[in-house]
Amino acid sequence: MKILYSIEECISWRKSALGSVGFVPTMGALHQGHLSLVKIAKKNCDYTIVSIFINPTQFSESEDFSSYPSMLDKDIKILKEELIDAVFIPSENEIYNKKSDDYFYETPLSNKLEGITRPHFFKGVTMVVYKLFNIVNPTHVVFGEKDAQQLIIIKQMIKHNKSSITLISGKTIRNKHGLAHSSRNAYLSVKEQKEASKIFQSLMLIKRLLDGGEQNSQLLKNEFVKSIESIAAFKLDYISIADIETLDEISKIHKKKTLVSTAVFFKEVRLIDNFIY
Ligand code: AMP
Repeated sequence: MKILYSIEECISWRKSALGSVGFVPTMGALHQGHLSLVKIAKKNCDYTIVSIFINPTQFSESEDFSSYPSMLDKDIKILKEELIDAVFIPSENEIYNKKSDDYFYETPLSNKLEGITRPHFFKGVTMVVYKLFNIVNPTHVVFGEKDAQQLIIIKQMIKHNKSSITLISGKTIRNKHGLAHSSRNAYLSVKEQKEASKIFQSLMLIKRLLDGGEQNSQLLKNEFVKSIESIAAFKLDYISIADIETLDEISKIHKKKTLVSTAVFFKEVRLIDNFIY
């Protein structure tokens, strides 16, 4: 596995990769969720490259950029075991030194759901993803459904830019209690992680009600809120039941695809989860 630190090295590696190239962008602290995306890339492409870059522009001043889990040596070891072809680990300076390369993708989708609490977030995500796409020049990219809104926005950005990249999505991978794997779970003890799985269980409460024919989204949200409020350490940021294309809230559930998504603070840790109905 090649370890690439500079843009130059990455471009040169790409030139030698003749065939399809599957790219998995990550912020590191790799877990089973990331590895499931790596497996998808490996299955679909001749070459697989993962990037590890904790992107400063997607964090606000008050967020956890400086404390975001970083375990580079462990990540490299894990990726070697996955037998991927290359890992790209650029420095902040490498990615952001040329202001002229900055890119701004504006879409109304960025201001909804996650964008309400984190107005800076998708500006930073689309900026870095665009830059990484230009450097890595992949034929395929793999993103997780865990970050459903991110997936939808990147899909739209690829279409908008008339890019030939094929986007593949990967299902959310969970631990045995249902908690979605996340690098931020490292902030929680094992006991807390078990408690945090109540978020997924509360989402599944909505799913059961939907399966039973309930269509009133306010009622569904109320049930979710009650379930979340039963854990004192939780503070609900939002629960949304939205049209999967516009991300607008819907009051009555119909046959079209619906995104049920939430963000919950567990003490200081902000956890997100969702399911598509
Ligand atoms: P991150 O390192 O958090 O930026 O995530 C990198 C990629 O991994 C994104 O496409 C995420 O959606 C995806 N991802 C994160 N957690 C999971 C999970 N539990 N299951 C599947 N994909 C995930």
